[in-house]
Amino acid sequence: MATPEPKQTENLEKGLTSAQVSENREKFGRNILQDAKKESILKKLFLQLTEITSLILLFAVALSAYMAISYDGGWTKPIVIGSIVVLNVLIGLYQEHSAEKSLAALRDMSEPTANVIRGGTTQKIAISDVVVGDIITLNAGDQVPADGELKKLNALNIDEAILTGESEPVEKTTKAPETVPDSIGDQVNKAFSGTLVTHGTGTMIVSAVGMKTEIGKIADLLNSTKRHKTVLQRRLSRLSLIMTFIAIVSGIFIFFLSTLHELGNVMDNLMIGVSLAVAAVPETLPVIVTISLSVGVQNMAKRNAIIRRLNSVETLGSVDVIASDKTGTLTQNKMTITRLWSFNNRPENIKVKHPLSDSATKLMRLFALDTNAVVEEDHIEGDATELAIIRLLHQHHLSREHFEQDAPRISERPFSSERKTMSTLHKLKNGHFLLIVKGALDKLPITLPDSDKQKINKIHDEFANDALRVLGVAYREFEEEPQKPIEDLEEKLTFAGIIGLIDPPRPEAKKAVRQAKSAGIKTIMITGDHKTTARAIATQIGIYQKGDLAVSGADLTKWDDKTLNQKIDKASVFARVSPEDKIRIVKAWQQQGKVVAMTGDGVNDAPALKAADVGIAMGITGTEVAKGASDLILTDDNFATIIAAVSSGRTIYQNVLKAIEFLVSVNFAQIFLMVGSVLFGWGVPLIAEQLLLINVLADGIPGFYLSREQGEAGAMRQSPIPSNQSIFSNGVGSRMFIRSMIYTVLTLSIYALGRFILTDNNSPVGATMLFLTLSMGSMIDIYPIKTREPLTLASIKSNHALNIALLIAAAIIVLVALIPPLQSSFGLVQLSPFQWTISLMAMFIPTILLEINKKIQLNLKG
Ligand code: ATP
Repeated sequence: MATPEPKQTENLEKGLTSAQVSENREKFGRNILQDAKKESILKKLFLQLTEITSLILLFAVALSAYMAISYDGGWTKPIVIGSIVVLNVLIGLYQEHSAEKSLAALRDMSEPTANVIRGGTTQKIAISDVVVGDIITLNAGDQVPADGELKKLNALNIDEAILTGESEPVEKTTKAPETVPDSIGDQVNKAFSGTLVTHGTGTMIVSAVGMKTEIGKIADLLNSTKRHKTVLQRRLSRLSLIMTFIAIVSGIFIFFLSTLHELGNVMDNLMIGVSLAVAAVPETLPVIVTISLSVGVQNMAKRNAIIRRLNSVETLGSVDVIASDKTGTLTQNKMTITRLWSFNNRPENIKVKHPLSDSATKLMRLFALDTNAVVEEDHIEGDATELAIIRLLHQHHLSREHFEQDAPRISERPFSSERKTMSTLHKLKNGHFLLIVKGALDKLPITLPDSDKQKINKIHDEFANDALRVLGVAYREFEEEPQKPIEDLEEKLTFAGIIGLIDPPRPEAKKAVRQAKSAGIKTIMITGDHKTTARAIATQIGIYQKGDLAVSGADLTKWDDKTLNQKIDKASVFARVSPEDKIRIVKAWQQQGKVVAMTGDGVNDAPALKAADVGIAMGITGTEVAKGASDLILTDDNFATIIAAVSSGRTIYQNVLKAIEFLVSVNFAQIFLMVGSVLFGWGVPLIAEQLLLINVLADGIPGFYLSREQGEAGAMRQSPIPSNQSIFSNGVGSRMFIRSMIYTVLTLSIYALGRFILTDNNSPVGATMLFLTLSMGSMIDIYPIKTREPLTLASIKSNHALNIALLIAAAIIVLVALIPPLQSSFGLVQLSPFQWTISLMAMFIPTILLEINKKIQLNLKG
């Protein structure tokens, strides 16, 4: 079948109309790569059923069914256990589904965008909205959104490593190769979906989208790479495995022990062994980590931090050093010219209402001509530095266009962060030509006598010490039209003067730096700006303190790695740094064993973002390349958001620890209770159905809601979590031991009380009392566990979802213990009011003891 011709565009300026967009989308499909073959619900069900817990449970169902048939044991047991299997599987499926959904929503939020020309205007759209026939403009830092043919370009270089494995970017042309190329790398007149623009600009017409693109053809391959588990997930899987082993061994032990003591028939004993194994397997643990992570990343997204790799949530909690860009992250990126100095005059303060002096106007003419920003009512374009220049002109009823009338521009060398200058060439009315270079003072190609140099540096430092960004301008006149390209003309320039721009710190930055400090995190500033300016702002924000080092890129070049390693912890400001310097800074900190987060926005920042433990890209100003290399995207470019994300990282980690503490200790207590009781010669106090009900209702469900716990007030007053810290350190292990001991003693005592003291060897009464105390007790003691601070009414009320889940679980347990048919299904008996009272009072004992233990520990800590 011939493929239909796409609706073509009339020309490169107009692009498709909205009707053509819909038509082409209809014909050629959307620009999406199908996810790895989605697991069907049946497959998921199969996976759930083949989990170790489900297998043991299924074995129990089969066993009880066999007993029902062969020994006339009744069908209650297989039905009850069967229902618990179903409940378990349903909860598992639901939790997994909601975690997946929230992670998918997050992926959509970090979807790259593309610049498309449609209906004559340029629009930024999500790459999934790109259709065949679209005109796409490509800029350095963009991700190519689809496959297409290049129609116009200027020094366009594209990194095609994702398709070809070739790490060197390919220089593109608009000319098709003469022979038919057999590899992607040779198709130099085409751009391919998923590749990255490293340099230059270009325009392409989209020829293929989605699975029809070259990357679509290998999408299956890309998808099949397994998702990595996070460190915490791996540790918990290991813990679950160990617990499962212990559970199975104890199950077998109980079976042999009861058979040996002739405490019932073999089948019953087998059943008890199996149910103990089920009860003690912490099947909810790994799920709880996934849920905690997914709930946590959703909360982070609401606070403008989009996590791209789940692993980094845990790493965030361990961050020791944050290396942050200055402009726009720590500052507002709203620049205003406040001072100006034209050479050989006096420095002037700029006041809005006061007219500019003649010398100032002359200086501003040079800046204006060498500026690209646009400030119109409905159209603002350009970087903050240049916008400040245009705004100043407008305030004084001047404009670039006004000056260009007498000096039209004939060529330009754009600004680059590496050179830190921008140049333009103009034709003057008198037939002469004027070259203007503006940029960082130390990068202007001017040669001056020492006395002038000193004078200039003095004024520069005066401005910079007031936290002003300083821009200089220089020029050269040619009588004839220069024949050389503009970059070769930049010499022997005459210095004209400087402007000083203020870029105020973000109001929240100072507080965030302070919070970081009390959380044991060092903030360092990294900037392309001058050292003196950077240091002045860093002092205002609280990053730079007396005695610290402010280091420039030039200093860094002189330092070898050893010197850098020695000085790194004294340095809080790095100025005029290159992307390579950023990598050295990250590595030097990592050499000290520190976990480093680093921000970045440019194409060249990608390697440093990858080298950092947490690479953070800017959502607003960042390139797609930087975003693609990052672990975290800040949608508001704000430093304070990083601190909020670190705080969430710590909370998530703490919540997982709390879930472990909550689940594992009761599982151990159940093992001790069963083994202890058999050793005392009392037989097994709890039957399979009771153990399973406690497992699902009292442990599993409340455990899930721990993931919704808010952070502890003190979390950001502690040091970062060491990245190799064991999950049992910091008192978690000892608290777990104490809790499982409390339950072992309490349950054995309540059983003995009910069976031997309150009744005459009535084991069902003992078992019912034990059931109530264990199930209700291990639900309500989630409160002392969920907060590390002493309990208050506010902390009890804080987690609504948990409170409601607990109420429902408690109601079910009370109903099971009260309503006769349910009672008998679960092997329980009617208790007297007195027995009820004792059981219900006993359920508060663990909470009270845990709270007392907490107080003692807190007092000991000081
Ligand atoms: P940060 O790294 O803190 O985000 P930045 O990215 O804004 O800072 P650069 O853009 O590399 O830093 O700017 C460094 C220097 O380049 C400035 O100090 C200024 O002197 C000069 N500069 C900035 N913008 C322009 C421009 N449009 N034209 C000429 N020079 C500029």
